[in-house]
Amino acid sequence: MSAKTTDRRGLLIILSSPSGAGKSTLARRLREWDSDLKFSVSATTRAPRDGEVDGADYHFLEESAFKSMVNDGDMLEHAHVFGNFYGSPRGPVQAAIEDGNDVLFDIDWQGAQQIRNSALGQHTLSIFLLPPSISELHRRLVSRGKDDAETIARRMQKSWDEISHWDGYDFVLINDNLDETETQLRSIITATRLRRSQQPGLNDHVRGLQTEFEDLS
Ligand code: ADP
Ligand code: 5GP
Repeated sequence: MSAKTTDRRGLLIILSSPSGAGKSTLARRLREWDSDLKFSVSATTRAPRDGEVDGADYHFLEESAFKSMVNDGDMLEHAHVFGNFYGSPRGPVQAAIEDGNDVLFDIDWQGAQQIRNSALGQHTLSIFLLPPSISELHRRLVSRGKDDAETIARRMQKSWDEISHWDGYDFVLINDNLDETETQLRSIITATRLRRSQQPGLNDHVRGLQTEFEDLS
């Protein structure tokens, strides 16, 4: 399906959750569903994990380069997470939404809050994913096989901090069954695209209806 229409404003779609609840998996599925959906590639000062590609998974930056971007106003939001800096470069997001494309963000609650409070806040859809249980969250972090035991323990330690911000989001989904959660996400995105504020072309359309109506009467 195509998300792009000339009379549609782009939506900033934010996915947050504790680490391991399923954000990346669901973001990947959503981009397969809608190939027009752009992914905001974050910048980070953390080291790449095995298999991560610079420019695709993250822009891996030195701390000095990251801080210059922040100082130059080139980050839409940024935060310190798990001892590293993370941020969303502003340029690609601005370009995408001006073209009427939606942008998907995998960011933490601090970033979500900053974007919601920014000038783009009214064009934001924020979704929080909860795990079905803490033991399942742990199981997923282990089964993902990307982190050592110490990193997993640190992520589990931080999970409550992230979960405690669940009530700042527009939608909250319990990611138990992956297919079901994907269906729910598709529904939420499809509905939100029809918000009046996302359809700047409506004024012209209604004016056209009015003209036609008056010509007929
Ligand atoms: P996050 O991006 O939030 O850190 P991931 O998307 O990497 O989380 O998911 C963590 C692990 O859990 C992955 O191995 C993924 O395949 C698995 N996973 C995600 N959602 C589900 C689900 N609903 N049921 C079972 N496993 C899941
Ligand atoms: P990871 O190191 O596992 O890739 O990400 C750790 C955490 O940082 C996740 O909660 C993820 O959502 C968050 N994160 C990734 N990119 C950004 C970003 O650009 N901004 C913010 N605020 N958080 C981010």
